[in-house]
Amino acid sequence: MPDVFADLVGQDEAVAELRRAAAAAAAVLRVGAADRPPALITTGPAGAAESTPTAGEADPGGVDPSAGMTHAWIFTGPPGSGRSVAARAFAAALQCVHGTGCGECPGCRTTMGGTHADVRLVVPEGLSIGVSEMRALVLRAASTPSGGRWQVVVIEDADRLTEAAGNALLKAIEEPPPRTVFLLCAPSTHPDDISVTIRSRCRVVPLRQPPADAVAEVLARRDGIAPDVAQWAAAAAQGHVGRARRLARDPEARKRREAVLAVPRRLTGIGAAFDAASALIEAAEAEAEASVTEADTAERAALETALGAGGTGRGAAGAMRGAAGQLKELEKRQKSRATRAQRDALDRALVDLAGFYRDALTMALGAPVAPVHTDTAALAAAGAQKWDAEGALRRLEAVLACRAAIEANVKPRIAVEAMMLALWKG
Ligand SMILES: [Zn+2]
Repeated sequence: MPDVFADLVGQDEAVAELRRAAAAAAAVLRVGAADRPPALITTGPAGAAESTPTAGEADPGGVDPSAGMTHAWIFTGPPGSGRSVAARAFAAALQCVHGTGCGECPGCRTTMGGTHADVRLVVPEGLSIGVSEMRALVLRAASTPSGGRWQVVVIEDADRLTEAAGNALLKAIEEPPPRTVFLLCAPSTHPDDISVTIRSRCRVVPLRQPPADAVAEVLARRDGIAPDVAQWAAAAAQGHVGRARRLARDPEARKRREAVLAVPRRLTGIGAAFDAASALIEAAEAEAEASVTEADTAERAALETALGAGGTGRGAAGAMRGAAGQLKELEKRQKSRATRAQRDALDRALVDLAGFYRDALTMALGAPVAPVHTDTAALAAAGAQKWDAEGALRRLEAVLACRAAIEANVKPRIAVEAMMLALWKG
């Protein structure tokens, strides 16, 4: 029976840190049971995560605080790296009766199954997490753990907290109840994703892009995908577990990828370069729209129902004034989510494209590494002959520069057009 960390693909360092923390947490519980109520070493502000306990206070059970446990964590990493998988596994390890995340005891199994009484999982699927929901959550999280171990609150997509909800959470993190642990998941610790004050109270666990072999192994083992397909999809997805699974299973996703990889062939002139730029932008927009439209409509309907839209009784007018504000807030959030989805889709396309030029470069150099895109390897080889290593490198750099420009808020169309011209001219 694999333990709770088994599905955390290719994250050896993070897993080692989480195992150490779970062991330290178990030690804190043992010491506490013997002579005093247990408490965690509180992470101070401004990155003082590794601070020693205050003078006069004994180090609990001889546990090294730097390898130890703290009460607030942020899991960050590129999409597909397994942030929420890591948070859930860690929650299970904290509830594990052996303190290891054995995967077999009731603590592990109920946590992984989502039914542990002391683990609250917040997945802001519909509306983002509002302030009242957060307050209720914080209040419940402060109660004594019924299982005698920890109260764990897992917040997936913590970047989708409203500002007010973030403040409510911050208060709880600043003055944590002795047995409560907060596990936040976010794309990064950039202030757009997590407020600086929350970040300063948390220990950050950065997850990396997992290697293709590890991704292929988990696709085959967990999802029952044929090993050769799993291998191809893992390589083509360049370490994104969810994307690899989609490529292995979804013909639409494969078609979009093929269209992107057809770009180098289509760049025959200046007009073609601009056409290719438009096609790439529009494909990203269409993909993003498909992914958010359904959620947007459902959210709006849910909010309208909750607000009693269409009410005509006394007080309805006042209620609708408040409702208008909430609807506006929802539209704002949906718009930012749509923008993000577009950027994500465009970025995936650019990563695919970069993979192609990287293949051309490694072939031109005769480097003994496997291509990212086995299905366009012949095309990349032709490019390698035509461009040489230098030309292939310039093109790869053009794609990476485009990603960086978009990241720095250059308008996507302008960045992509500049890239296409560079790819054409070399
Ligand atoms: Zn266990």
